[in-house]
Order: sequence, then structure tokens, then C-alpha cells
Amino acid sequence: MNSNTTAPALPFLPFSKPSIDEATIAAVSEVLRSGWITSGPKVQEFETLLSNYFGGRPVRTFNSGTCTMAIALRIAGIGPGDEVITTPISWIATANVILEVGATPIFADIDPVTRNIDLDQVEAAITPRTKAIIPVYLGGLPVDMDKLYAIAKKHNLRVIEDAAQAIGSNWKGQRIGALGDLVSFSFQANKNITTAEGGCLVLNNAEEARLAEKYRLQGVSRTGFDGIDVDVLGGKYNMTDIAAVIGLGQMTYLEAITQHRRALAQHYFTMFGATFEAETGAQLPPMNFENSNWHLFQIILPKQIKRADFMEKMLEHNIGIGYHYAPIHLFTLYRQRGFKEGMFPHAEHIGRQTVTLPLFYTLTKADVERVVNAVKSVMYTLNNSNN
Ligand SMILES: *Cc1c(COP(=O)(O)O)cnc(C)c1O
Repeated sequence: MNSNTTAPALPFLPFSKPSIDEATIAAVSEVLRSGWITSGPKVQEFETLLSNYFGGRPVRTFNSGTCTMAIALRIAGIGPGDEVITTPISWIATANVILEVGATPIFADIDPVTRNIDLDQVEAAITPRTKAIIPVYLGGLPVDMDKLYAIAKKHNLRVIEDAAQAIGSNWKGQRIGALGDLVSFSFQANKNITTAEGGCLVLNNAEEARLAEKYRLQGVSRTGFDGIDVDVLGGKYNMTDIAAVIGLGQMTYLEAITQHRRALAQHYFTMFGATFEAETGAQLPPMNFENSNWHLFQIILPKQIKRADFMEKMLEHNIGIGYHYAPIHLFTLYRQRGFKEGMFPHAEHIGRQTVTLPLFYTLTKADVERVVNAVKSVMYTLNNSNN
């Protein structure tokens, strides 16, 4: 190739990227200079803001989405001997927290269209030992909340919503978190809004909120000998004021973030066009602009394309591709508990073929066009090299 005619390489596009504005950076500096850097007034302010956002329900913050989920299970009284039903297509944290509290994870296959847990499969998996359901809103798309809570009510089950990816998502005009049982969010760096690391739990009442405070700080309550007592085994899961002030800054443009993501997702559909699926055998995500916050834009590659090849070729275009997720039941830790290939065919197919395209607040429509052109060209090349 004549290097004189080679266009300069376009900048690398990651699949996700946090955006922290200058006001937030200044606010972090202020906390650092204040002399109070761990849990303090900023955590309280953040919790109050979140509580208002979630319709006045009590909210407590933690130092990760993962510990938020584990604490939710403890608050629901779930432990050894109890079964908890969840999806095999999620970040591993979703199932690990069930093991962490000593309970038994039970998987139900996913719906191949929404890629979320199939609620009919959930109902089929219920036994006398089932105590809770953990649905995951993959890419920010909620499950059918009416059906979920009808099943929970009928079988007297707790619901711990893994809404790690779903801040800004809705169900019939209501915010995810403003309805339901225990609802857990993550503020890890890749999520729609971030505190670098962190999470929050939306609770039902003051009693649960008090328990959440105990579990996040060594079980300490402010009563008893010398004004302090410990009556449950807690850990060290509190959020810092440094993280909370980042969260406060992020919340000021959460709505703008969600709107921008929806607009970019819409542009992805426009650019792929109506014939893309039929021409390539790939599957676009469900076109949901009412409920999803578009945390992820995921396409399912056709069987004949190997994901590793696709990712490698996209990197040649300087575009980073993610995948969310490998099926949890096929990890060694879960195989050792009796799970194996063939148990959840939809999860296994999607786990093998799903790819996540770039989508973040500072991505532009021109970037989306660049990604779509690269995807089409890579798929064309790979389809022809395999024939
Ligand atoms: C990010 C995420 C978690 C874990 O959150 P952390 O804050 O990283 O601990 C759990 N479940 C899902 C679905 C996630 O996306």
C-alpha cells in the first residue's frame, strides 16, 4: 500500500467512557481539602438526592454495586438452605452474591429477544425452598415489571432487582427504583453515571434502612454499652465523601446522559437500516425507547462469525468492542455445582455471539456512523472468508 494515500488513523473509540465535568472535579478537590474525606455530609447529601429521585423511598449508599446486592440479600433474610433464581447472562457479581450469603443460585434461561431472564422460566424454577428472584435489566432494559411482581406476590418471594445498569430507565412512566421491592444500582466507572466505584440500595422502610447502615459498617448501632453496640455481623462497605461528591455532580446531568444515549441508539438503528438483520443474520437489540436507558447497545453476531475474529477486526478499525456476558453457569465455580453446557441454550448462544458497540455520553453521531460502517465492512469480510 502506498503510505502517501493512507488516511491518518482515526482516534481509538472505547465501548464505554466516563465523563466527569470540571465542576465535579473542583468539588472533589474541595472535599479533599476539607479534612473530611470518608463518609460524611456529602454521602448524606447524595443519599437525600437519590431518595428524592426515587420517589421518596429510603436510599443508602455503599462502596460497590456488588456489596449492595449482598447486603440486600442479607436484609431480606436470605441465607443457607434458600434458593434464589437469577439469570445466567449478567456480570458474575449477580450470582456470586447469592453464594456469598450461603444461599443456592438457580438459573432460569433468558428470553432471546430481550436477553433478560424469561419470567415463565422463572416461574417454572420455583420450589418450596425459593426465597427470592434477582432479575437483571441487561443494557438498562427492564423486564415486564407487572409480571415479575405478580409472580413474586403469588409465590411470596422477595425481589432484589439488579438494576446496576438501569439508572434512568423506566417502567410505564415510573423510574426504575421508584417502584418494587429492594432495588440495587451500581456506580462503577462504566455505568451511565459513576462514583468511580459505588452503589446504592432503594429500600422499603426505615427499619430496612437501619439494617443497611449496620451491614455496611461492622454491624455497629448507636445504642448499648457506651453508646455503641454490635448485634449483627457487618462489613466495611461505606461510600466515601469523595465518591459521593462525584455522584452528586453526575446526577445533575443524568437526564442529559439518558437522552443523549437514546438519541445515539436511535442513530445506530437508522444507520444499520431496516435490511441489516436480513442481509447479515445479525440481531439488533429490541427497539425500546420508552423504558431503556440504553446502557449498552448490543448486537448478536450470526453463528458463522466467531466473536474473537470480529473483535480483532474491529480493533484494526481502532474501535473497542465489549461483550456482556459470558454465561455464568459455565464458569468453573458454577460447573462445580452441577451446571453444564446445554442447560440454558438461549443464554449459551447469546453468551457466545453478543458484542457491545461503543455508546457513551461524549460519543457523537459521526462516531456512530464510523462504527456502523466498520461493523458492516468487518461482517462482510468475515462472511466471505468463511464461505
Ligand atoms: C456493574 C454490575 C454489577 C456490579 O457492580 P459493581 O459496582 O461493579 O460491584 C452487578 N450486576 C450488574 C448487572 C452490573 O452491570
